[in-house]
Amino acid sequence: MRVIRSIHSLRQVINKAKRQNKKIGFVPTMGALHDGHRSLLKKCRRENNLVVLSIFVNPQQFAPHEDYAQYPRDKKKDELLAKKENVDIIFYPSEEIMYPKGYLSYVTVESISDLLCGKSRPGHFKGVATIVAKLLNCVSPDILYLGQKDAQQAYILKKMIADLNFPVKVKICPIIRENDGLAMSSRNRYLTQQERKEAPILFQSLQEAKRKILAGERNLITISRLMESNIKRYSHGKLDYIECVDPGTLAPLAQIQKKFMIALAVKLGKTRLIDNIIIQIYAMGQRIK
Ligand code: AMP
Repeated sequence: MRVIRSIHSLRQVINKAKRQNKKIGFVPTMGALHDGHRSLLKKCRRENNLVVLSIFVNPQQFAPHEDYAQYPRDKKKDELLAKKENVDIIFYPSEEIMYPKGYLSYVTVESISDLLCGKSRPGHFKGVATIVAKLLNCVSPDILYLGQKDAQQAYILKKMIADLNFPVKVKICPIIRENDGLAMSSRNRYLTQQERKEAPILFQSLQEAKRKILAGERNLITISRLMESNIKRYSHGKLDYIECVDPGTLAPLAQIQKKFMIALAVKLGKTRLIDNIIIQIYAMGQRIK
């Protein structure tokens, strides 16, 4: 495994791999790696000859009041995990390399960046799109691996890749959860003991919504209210949003459709948690995935 810090060195290795017709898979992360990241790396390893992992806590996607300074950084542990997963290259750029003095260029994926998480995190997805565009230009992968955990991010990046003609295929990997259902996240370590006990309420309320829909409930307002009251009753969390959206466009839905996504964000103490579920209704038996 090579740890590379400069774009020039990275490109040399990538160009050599391309000359050897190697298939290149890429997993961009902000580090503090966990089993969610690991599942992306495993899939990437299975499907490619060269596995590139990037670790960069991207300042451009944090608002000034957010947790950029506190964001967990654990280089040694990350390197060990990457080694275990047979990563070929860790790309570790510095802030100065990615955003040198006088930096002026940004990527905005319009309108959909302002929905869901974008409402309470203005500018966040502009930061995400910009860094991933830059990383794609440095790594030139054949396949980019993203997690369904950050469903809006994945959707926005897919749109950017299509709109700007990046020659890369995107694969979205399922959400990896703790045993109690909490979606794994580097930010879970901010949770106090009490908050950690309450945190599975996001997944539980999604499951409860799914059960109700399975039992025939079709009113989205009723479902959102039920989820909201569960969150209030069983946690100290402050609801940011619960939205039922079209998984293909992220457009908010007024009515249930065959396949849809319920996404939510809850602030538990200082930690903002997100989760989502895709529900598919089969008209006859109302079977739900
Ligand atoms: P992050 O380091 O949080 O920016 O995440 C890097 C990548 O890992 C993103 O594509 C995330 O969606 C993905 N990821 C993070 N947590 C999970 C999880 N629990 N399950 C699956 N993918 C995840």
